[in-house]
Amino acid sequence: MPDDCIFCKIIAGQADADIVFRDDQITAFWDHRPAAPVHILVVPNKHIDSVNEADLQDAELLGKLILKARDLAKEQGVDERGYRLVLNVGPDGGQTVFHIHLHLIAGRRLPVFRE
Ligand code: AMP
Ligand code: ZN
Repeated sequence: MPDDCIFCKIIAGQADADIVFRDDQITAFWDHRPAAPVHILVVPNKHIDSVNEADLQDAELLGKLILKARDLAKEQGVDERGYRLVLNVGPDGGQTVFHIHLHLIAGRRLPVFRE
């Protein structure tokens, strides 16, 4: 694990987070600066910097992130009204933590993507 990766530290139990799910492949925890009433980060336990560095061997793991986010949306009671799943990639994509994470954002009407 890279020494300076905050998400690796959370996964290893070396940094605090409000964890909502954990198994041998995935950890999910509440975003500490939520953009909406529900804002959970779904993170592979394996460190991968970003989607740019993922390869075919990671395809199943990345698919599981989506299905886990879907399950958490249901648990949070937002599946019917809907939610947004976001993977930010690189500086222009708004990525600030370079360990892949899927944002589950819900609980309010989200603006359409257009600037
Ligand atoms: P991104 O901008 O896509 O890289 O998303 C990183 C997200 O991680 C942001 O929404 C931050 O608020 C969140 N974040 C960063 N550090 C922590 C932390 N220690 N605990 C919980 N959320 C964090
Ligand atoms: Zn990491």
